[in-house]
Amino acid sequence: MKITEKLLHIPPYISTAWENIESLHTKDNLLIINLKNTKSIEIPNLPKQIIETIFNSHAKFIENKNDSPPLNPFSNMGLSMNSGSNLSSIDSITSAMKHNPDQKDMPDIPKEVLKKIATITKIFSDEASIDIPKPEANCNCPYCQISKAMQIATGVNIENLDEDVSEEDLKFRLWDIKEHGDKLYLVTNPLDHNEKYSVFLGDPIGCTCGSKNCEHIKSVLKT
Ligand SMILES: [Zn+2]
Ligand SMILES: [Zn+2]
Repeated sequence: MKITEKLLHIPPYISTAWENIESLHTKDNLLIINLKNTKSIEIPNLPKQIIETIFNSHAKFIENKNDSPPLNPFSNMGLSMNSGSNLSSIDSITSAMKHNPDQKDMPDIPKEVLKKIATITKIFSDEASIDIPKPEANCNCPYCQISKAMQIATGVNIENLDEDVSEEDLKFRLWDIKEHGDKLYLVTNPLDHNEKYSVFLGDPIGCTCGSKNCEHIKSVLKT
């Protein structure tokens, strides 16, 4: 038998990590362990002291778990950016993250977040040389999405920027817009060149995404 803050090992009944255990309770002479997979295990006739040790260990595990920092890298970013932009927050983002092919189909990071990252990157790349991580092609893992945003912000991705860039242009753009004919505009996502739409501002107004009230049309109207 082994009862630690990490695991519960009571052969031949159970041997598992606390994280697989939902809750504990006793009933008559039974200790009932509810597992997260909704199974439960009953262990009869354990000495009272052992049961106490088991409950204490479980409580410690839960307390420690709640103390540990959040695992979601985005929530960390939010905090560090709200408390002021600094170089170390960029470093911490990039060093905390690695290209992960398992996450290549991740949903897009909210544009607001990418925008913040790009803005901070821009501010600091003027003053110090920072290592911009290199995104992998065709990967949408959080690391690669962020690296793309950072690269665009520092102008590494020159094809996205005009020769003569104004201060306004250097601010992160959600859509690249090019005039493509009479009242016809090509709208491209600077973070994903495969995502492009044609917007027609004639009569009737339309966008190849199929909507008449989409952000592509709105962004063309703003320019
Ligand atoms: Zn990646
Ligand atoms: Zn559209």
